[in-house]
Formats: sequence, C-alpha cells, structure tokens
Amino acid sequence: STIPTVRLNDGNAMPQFGYGVWRVSNEEAASAIGEAIKAGYRSIDTAAIYGNEEGVGQAIKAAPVSRDELFITTKVWNDRHGYDETLRAFDESLARLQLDHVDLYLIHWPVAGSEAYLDTWRALTKLKQDGRAKSIGVSNFMVQHLQRLIDEAGVTPSVNQIELHPRFQQTELRAFHAKNGIITESWSPLGQGTLIADETLAAIGRKHGKTPAQVILRWHLDNGLVVIPKSVTPSRMRENISVFDFKLDAEDMRAIEGLNDASGRVGPDPAVFG
Ligand code: NAD
Repeated sequence: STIPTVRLNDGNAMPQFGYGVWRVSNEEAASAIGEAIKAGYRSIDTAAIYGNEEGVGQAIKAAPVSRDELFITTKVWNDRHGYDETLRAFDESLARLQLDHVDLYLIHWPVAGSEAYLDTWRALTKLKQDGRAKSIGVSNFMVQHLQRLIDEAGVTPSVNQIELHPRFQQTELRAFHAKNGIITESWSPLGQGTLIADETLAAIGRKHGKTPAQVILRWHLDNGLVVIPKSVTPSRMRENISVFDFKLDAEDMRAIEGLNDASGRVGPDPAVFG
C-alpha cells in the first residue's frame, strides 16, 4: 500500500492515514468499511460510544485483506473510567469487534472535574502488557492531563487524538507532544466538512489540481499528523485518500497557517466536557 506509517514511542508502526466511523451506523458500517478497504484504507477509527463496533467487526471478517494488514482503534467511553470498569469495557469492545486484540486503545476523554483517568490509564498499561492492546493512548487530553500520566504512571501515551484542522491548529499541544514523543492524531480533520468551502483552500487546490478536502488532508500529512477523515460516499473516500501524489509548498503552508483561529473548534472543549 502507498500509505506511510508513523513510528510510535513503543516501536509499533501506525498508518498515517485512516478512516473514521463516527456517526456511521452499525448497519452502514460493514458496507462503508468494505468500500474504504477497497479504496486502500487500512486503519479504522471507532469507539464504544459510536455504537458500531459490531459492524466494524463484520467488516474486518469480510475484508479481502488479513487482520494483520488492518490497524483497528477503539476507545473507552466516559462512563467506564476506573481500573476494573475499563478492563470490563475493553472486553466488551473486543467481543463486539470479534477480535483478540486491537492495535490502539484510547481513553476517549479525560472527563472534566474527575481524576479517574489516572486509574483508567493504569488499566490501559495492563492491557498493553497483556498484548491485547498493541499500543495505548488518549484522546482530547490537555497538557495538564498528559503531564500527570507521565509523572504519576510513568508511561507516556503513544498517541493523543485531538480536534485539529486548519481552523484549529493546536500549536501548543503539538509542541508538547513533539517534546514528549507523543504522536498527534487529528480528529474532525476536515472541520466536519465546514472547511471545504474555504476560498484560501480552494485556491491552493486549483494550483495543484486538487480539491479543498485533498489540500486539507495533505496539510495534516505534511505536518506529520495522523489523519482519519470520515465519509460514507465511496467517491469521497477515494478523493480523500488520493493525496499521496503531491505536496504543499512553503507559501501554501503559510497561507493555511493564517486560517488558525483560537475559537475555531467544531467539537467540545475538553476543559469542560464530560
Ligand atoms: P471530518 O472532519 O472527517 O468530516 C467528515 C464530514 O465531512 C463528512 O461527514 C462529510 O460531510 C464531509 N466530507 C468528507 N469528505 C468530503 C469530501 N471529500 N468533500 C466534501 N465533503 C466531505 O469529521 P469527523 O467525522 O467528525 O471526524 C473524523 C473522525 O474523527 C470521526 O469519524 C471519528 O472517527 C474521529 N473523531 C473523534 C473524536 C474524539 O473525541 N476522539 C471526535 C470527533 C471525531
């Protein structure tokens, strides 16, 4: 496959480009993921809360490629924090996925006002030791949460999956990740589709013979980010993955940097969410 990988801090490789399945129903999941795999996707990002792990499992079973060629991520939801509870939630996810391991298991949110994520993280380190989660990480963690995991558990997450797109570039958190060997994974990389209409991105696209979506996804890749766009439309799935034959230049990168906006979130703020 043409999809590059990034090296995680535990030595494992992760595809830099994947397929996100938030708001894809259980019923839709099998056929949508089947199409995605046909289009060349090998990494699937789901979560217990998405309610489609069974459909993801069916897609994996039906896939024309073997399990080892796929990279499966799922996440523990906010109401399952704590050591024992997380281990139970993980067993339930694996059963729904019909798998004996996942490639990446994430804490979905730190949950504002709670410190339970510290016990949850200890459960993830146990799952990694047991080989049932090949790699472990977090999602929506802020610097303060990451620092506590590093200091108090002594295990640095391999990945932090956060809202990140040209309108919300997360420069401070990315710098912390870089300093601490944490890979940044961009969720809502297209701003949930809201960035497609941006004229700056469209103009860069015209210059390269690419669509705005392709320009945005290339921007993530050129910044070393892992990216997981979602679409259930096969033509868009193919469009989104067709980004390995061009690169943005310095002028493009500067123009896109200019779109950054401190209030540009499309999703919840982890400082208050949970
Ligand atoms: P996204 O930024 O990937 O945008 C998806 C939407 O953009 C689609 O529904 C469609 O409307 C539009 N779109 C996609 N491709 C297009 C194209 N080529 N042309 C025009 N429009 C296009 O948004 P997302 O689904 O929120 O994020 C991607 C994935 O990130 C999710 O599916 C999920 O796996 C993950 N995610 C994680 C969290 C978290 O808290 N960890 C939160 C949100 C999303």
